[in-house]
Amino acid sequence: EIVATTAGEGFLDPVPLIGPYPSGAPAIFVDQAGRIGGAAAMVGSVGNDDFGRANIARLKGDGVDVSGIRTDPVLPTGTAFVRYRPDGARDFVFNMWTSAAGALAWDDRVEPVCARAGHLHVMGTLLGHQSIWEMTERAAAMIKARGGTISLDPNMRKELRGDGETGRRFARMVGMADLLLPSGDELYLAADLPVEAGEEAALERLFQSGVKEVAIKRGADGATCALADGSRTHSPAFAVTEMDPTGAGDCFGGAYVACRRLGMTPSQALTYANAAGARNVTFRGPMEGAGTRDELDQFISETKRLTR
Ligand code: ADP
Repeated sequence: EIVATTAGEGFLDPVPLIGPYPSGAPAIFVDQAGRIGGAAAMVGSVGNDDFGRANIARLKGDGVDVSGIRTDPVLPTGTAFVRYRPDGARDFVFNMWTSAAGALAWDDRVEPVCARAGHLHVMGTLLGHQSIWEMTERAAAMIKARGGTISLDPNMRKELRGDGETGRRFARMVGMADLLLPSGDELYLAADLPVEAGEEAALERLFQSGVKEVAIKRGADGATCALADGSRTHSPAFAVTEMDPTGAGDCFGGAYVACRRLGMTPSQALTYANAAGARNVTFRGPMEGAGTRDELDQFISETKRLTR
């Protein structure tokens, strides 16, 4: 996916575009994981065009195994436009499901990646798509059967929530997940409880259903890790000037999962994940601010924490 950003009142106003930038929630996640170090691979689909080549080159350059990314012979790389409103709200125009991304399905590139993987990360945004769902379910079953683990970023955008089939897929994925990375009301959506039930009740429900760890993203309020054994670890956010909020949650997730897979404690992983999210919002472009381990170490030592 490629993103171009624009500021102004409407998409049709002839304001200058900024970009294009490599993007896509799964790509941002895996790019950040690749930059941290350790093994990271992506399954995806791009067009046989400059945008597709730019996405693959970026991921490869940041240490990601791109052997699971197919190049569609006909369909173009998916694109998205983001409009930033003066009040900070964002509007998106997506061209995904009529692009190469919409043709993504299980094929002989996916199998070897799943055969090597010890962990699968799933993005909730993809659950509305039939062939991607079938691929995800198959990959999850294959990796779980070998003793691997699964993380899920619910990322359930409003347009996905009304659909019953997507809701059933989401519940099934929550049931298979070891680690959840919710933000906003997604904790309650995953637990299938109203927000009024409270955070502890929602966490308890999830732990009973087999989830082992929940990393709750709280924007400028930082993040909290909750484990099934009852432990809760909070880590405050870093004080930064936000240039572009797109990609913060994905960088947080990529860093958190990579750090936990490298054997770090929840507290250490939260520090890197908060740093990755905060550093990324100081750059224009969805994944331009993803940081290497050294860049994040430097960011952590130089940047004040917010007190919340
Ligand atoms: P999502 O994009 O999934 O809604 P958040 O907005 O909570 O996720 O961002 C993920 C993480 O990135 C936060 O937990 C925080 O650590 C960091 N982050 C995001 N925005 C900011 C900000 N303005 N200042 C500092 N840290 C931020």
